[in-house]
Amino acid sequence: MKLKTLESANLSGKTVLYRAPYDIDTKEVNGVFEVVDDMRIWVTLPTLQYLLEKNCKIIILTYVGRPDGKVVEELRTTPHAECLSKLLNHPVAKVDDCIGPKVSEKISQMAPGDILMLENVRFYSGEMIDDDAFAQKLCEGKDLIVFDGFPQAHRIHASTTGIERHLPAVAGLYLEQEIKMLSSLLENPKHPFTVIIGGAKISDKVDAIRNLLHVADTILVGGAVANVFLKAEGRELGSSFIEDVFVDKMKREKKDWVEDARDILKQAESLKKKIMVPGDLVMSDGISTKKIVTEGVPAGWMALDIGPKTQVDFSNIINQSKTVFINGPMGKFEDERFSLGSRAVLNAMKNLTQNLKGETIIAGGDTIDVARKYGNLNDYSHTSLAGGATLEFLAGKELPALKALIE
Ligand code: ADP
Ligand code: MG
Repeated sequence: MKLKTLESANLSGKTVLYRAPYDIDTKEVNGVFEVVDDMRIWVTLPTLQYLLEKNCKIIILTYVGRPDGKVVEELRTTPHAECLSKLLNHPVAKVDDCIGPKVSEKISQMAPGDILMLENVRFYSGEMIDDDAFAQKLCEGKDLIVFDGFPQAHRIHASTTGIERHLPAVAGLYLEQEIKMLSSLLENPKHPFTVIIGGAKISDKVDAIRNLLHVADTILVGGAVANVFLKAEGRELGSSFIEDVFVDKMKREKKDWVEDARDILKQAESLKKKIMVPGDLVMSDGISTKKIVTEGVPAGWMALDIGPKTQVDFSNIINQSKTVFINGPMGKFEDERFSLGSRAVLNAMKNLTQNLKGETIIAGGDTIDVARKYGNLNDYSHTSLAGGATLEFLAGKELPALKALIE
């Protein structure tokens, strides 16, 4: 996938609508809101610095959370503007709207090198339905779009696909880097290529698993996703969290994920690929007891982590890999007693990276959380900061907001 790059655009002195990936939660500290995490701001600094060098006027657009078309105080972009200003060491002005006269006035007062943060675009109901008149208003007074909103690129919203209908757009450096890294996983990974899938819900990941099956050599499955595969193999799972049947409320369709898992296992066999499910599990009865089982999980008990033997088996596969991608923790890691599985696979990935034996990629909000809780993101070759967009990209789907950015 070849993207239109910053270098290809004539940016000198232009008024840029910068679509930022700043969908970041806030928390109140001593009566003031702050972003809970600045990772998604850090990654945008190179693009913004580039635009500043080109004497651009930079107007930043993003959505935050789910305010559903209403003004929600804790979802304003003010903390995002403040955090950016600190990290970039440059003033960032804030306006409490994203369209209309207040915004036009602010833009008319901007000088080259000025930065203006617009208000949360989801305060308008036109955002989520990609309202065309609203999208046009978002573009008023700007010359072109620099798009770095990769975590939102799978959305058909006014601030993604909408604005791209009204202004020319190029990719920012952060988006370019995500696409480069994820494309290389699909197109030319070094083998053996191991994919590790965990987390809670198979419905989020099933399409990515199916697509990755064609390029990966081994898929290691843990977390509650493994429960569905274990059920497909006929194991008892007691009271474990298991997304076996799922009703799509919008489509009113019933989906049986165990059928999907069975189908994936069959397909793996015909493609001569290996799917490994946990051979042992750590379980709890919900009170304090923690036991290891190799057989099924008895009634009243829940599987909450991969067991010690599986930790060794998975680590051995990782040790022999040249590329390892992980999305989803191996257990309910928020409770330290069930974090050992995730820590073991992440540690094996870290060793692979540090010994320069292979490339490692981690993706997903909770996966990043557990990696940071017990280590450092620098322990891995790459981190993908998106959830849904990353999985849809790896599933081989076309992300709607990328269409306008392709050469
Ligand atoms: P990511 O955000 O990295 O994509 P997910 O959101 O898919 O990951 O999954 C993370 C969640 O999965 C965590 O909250 C974790 O507690 C949960 N989880 C993992 N294993 C289990 C399990 N065996 N039973 C219940 N929940 C689990
Ligand atoms: Mg998550």
